[in-house]
Amino acid sequence: MFCQIAAGTVPASKVFEDDQVVAFSDLRPVAPTHILVVPRRHVPSLAEAAEEDWPDIVRALQVARQLGREGGLSDGYRLVQNVGPDGGQTVGHLHWHLLGGRSMTWPPG
Ligand SMILES: [Zn+2]
Repeated sequence: MFCQIAAGTVPASKVFEDDQVVAFSDLRPVAPTHILVVPRRHVPSLAEAAEEDWPDIVRALQVARQLGREGGLSDGYRLVQNVGPDGGQTVGHLHWHLLGGRSMTWPPG
């Protein structure tokens, strides 16, 4: 599904896009700011990332930092990557959750 969003065939409220990465609001936000940062390249999960995927992974992290900065999250934010079923990954396309606008707790559930 994230491949379709990246291709523009499934609509999403995009907050950023370039040739490597798209970012859009999560449909079910769990924080005042909840953005999904997604490499366009189809990588199923971090565990399955190949050598040639790393430039896109680094770019996604740069975009996440930029969105945190521009989104007024100067007090911090949480960047979450769920990996595989035990990690809570529910979409088989690499992505990060950028969560902010409230104080986070530790440990996560
Ligand atoms: Zn995909």
